[in-house]
Amino acid sequence: MSQISRRIAIAGAGISGLSAAYYIQRFCLENGIAVQLTIYEPSEQLGGKIRTLHRDGCVIERGPDSFLARKLPMLELARELGLEGELTATNPQAKKTYILHKRKLHSMPEGLMLGIPTQIMPFLRTGLISPLGKARAALDLLLPRKAGKADEALGVFLSRRLGSEVLEHIAEPLLAGIYAGDTKELSLQSTFPQFQALEQDHRSIMIGMIRNKRQQRLLRLKNRPTGTHGTTDRDGQIPLSQLASKSMFLTFRQGLATLVNALVTKLSEATIRTGIAVTEVSNSDGHYNLKLSDGSEEKFDAVVLAVPNYAAVGMLPQLAEEQALINIPYVSVANVVMAFRKSELTLSKDGSGFLVPRSEGLTITACTWTSVKWLHTAPDDMVLVRCYIGRSGATESVESNDEQLTNRVRADLKQTLGIDAEPLFVEVTRWKDSMPQYPVGHLESLKQYREKLAGLMPGVYLTGSGYQGVGLPDCIGQAKQCAEKVVDDLVNRS
Ligand SMILES: Cc1cc2nc3c(=O)[nH]c(=O)nc-3n(C[C@H](O)[C@H](O)[C@H](O)COP(=O)(O)OP(=O)(O)OC[C@H]3O[C@@H](n4cnc5c(N)ncnc54)[C@H](O)[C@@H]3O)c2cc1C
Repeated sequence: MSQISRRIAIAGAGISGLSAAYYIQRFCLENGIAVQLTIYEPSEQLGGKIRTLHRDGCVIERGPDSFLARKLPMLELARELGLEGELTATNPQAKKTYILHKRKLHSMPEGLMLGIPTQIMPFLRTGLISPLGKARAALDLLLPRKAGKADEALGVFLSRRLGSEVLEHIAEPLLAGIYAGDTKELSLQSTFPQFQALEQDHRSIMIGMIRNKRQQRLLRLKNRPTGTHGTTDRDGQIPLSQLASKSMFLTFRQGLATLVNALVTKLSEATIRTGIAVTEVSNSDGHYNLKLSDGSEEKFDAVVLAVPNYAAVGMLPQLAEEQALINIPYVSVANVVMAFRKSELTLSKDGSGFLVPRSEGLTITACTWTSVKWLHTAPDDMVLVRCYIGRSGATESVESNDEQLTNRVRADLKQTLGIDAEPLFVEVTRWKDSMPQYPVGHLESLKQYREKLAGLMPGVYLTGSGYQGVGLPDCIGQAKQCAEKVVDDLVNRS
């Protein structure tokens, strides 16, 4: 272990900041580098958007509720932290997702993959798309591929390939929902780069999806476990890919805060300072000087900014001229969780909730039948329902007070599901400026900004949901890469 201890600061104790800290600590120990980590977090709570609440026997998520299992960084981290046994999958009975169309719930046609039809008959039968809209979608089979690989808006791409009906009635509520975004503004390459690859490789995105699906099925058959205990890898563990194939989404039985708590426990080399924000980062004779919200200043060898993009650029006055390069808009959202007596409410047991296209003009953008989708979230005699509010260009309701918001949500539930039971309790959560909207050309602008940053302040690093993916596994994957770079740079400098 080298004698001089490296001082590294991390701004932000969301999943990005905490996992960056965890991996920096791990890689430093592996490389024999002594390290002192300091994490600054303005709020009193750790975990950023991850916020689990336990109330009356319910596990309630105020922020994210689960993660996409096939993106492995989250599963890898869960395994490293010894949390594999805490993982739980969605209720296999609750297979269907519904979409509201002309005030009626329609189940999503079978075979839809990320909004792209891959089975003809269910798509032909769906009431979500008119006969003309279906004919227009079929044109994807014939249309030539677009020349060049320039970025474009997700919505422009999808309506070019499948027509505006598939975009507005299916793809937009499904895909833009993840970002609370507007598909006409979101970058294709930063959100669903696989769509562009499908067009480049197969011309038709429907044909491409079908071929990929077939290939994946063959791969799954090839890797199918043989013995009663399934296949294990060299360490006697189930391969992560096998774990991931159990369910599209996974979470932890006691909520996502399980991961946050486990990370914090492992951060033996870190001091976590809550109630303190980083206000400015500047170069100072080979070190980085941090100005803090309590008026103090501290010097570090490296600084990781794991905060929303607008907060990071605000801390870097030396890059004020480059700020326009990553001027990422953020959208505010809210969600309302309601608990009901099971005896007063019946929800369909085969579904997990419904999505609401913009054209339906409701306050809610989606509704999850939480206790049907996730059986661990409520006691047997209770039902949990979670409604989402706010999307790009439609955030007024997010600002209304709790009572107004709850009333609007209840009116929507009455109209769509006929629910007029009195909730046992209601939990309202607002997330101001929380969902980054990657604009067209984002990846190229980000590359340029990072190059400028590396030139002027080589020991300052950016990570987090503002850059290359908002999903929890994306945030963890980016944080791990960032940690590798931080430690590589330390090794190369020493
Ligand atoms: C309602 C909602 C539902 C979601 N659902 C899902 C889901 O089901 N699955 C999924 O995978 N993803 C989901 N997401 C996305 C995911 O939760 C986020 O992208 C992810 O949690 C972001 O993590 P982060 O650490 O990058 O940022 P954050 O969680 O925002 O953390 C950033 C931290 O930086 C701190 N900070 C800000 N300014 C400063 C400063 N000046 N100095 C120091 N610290 C500062 C903040 O207080 C915060 O704690 C959801 C998001 C929301 C809002």
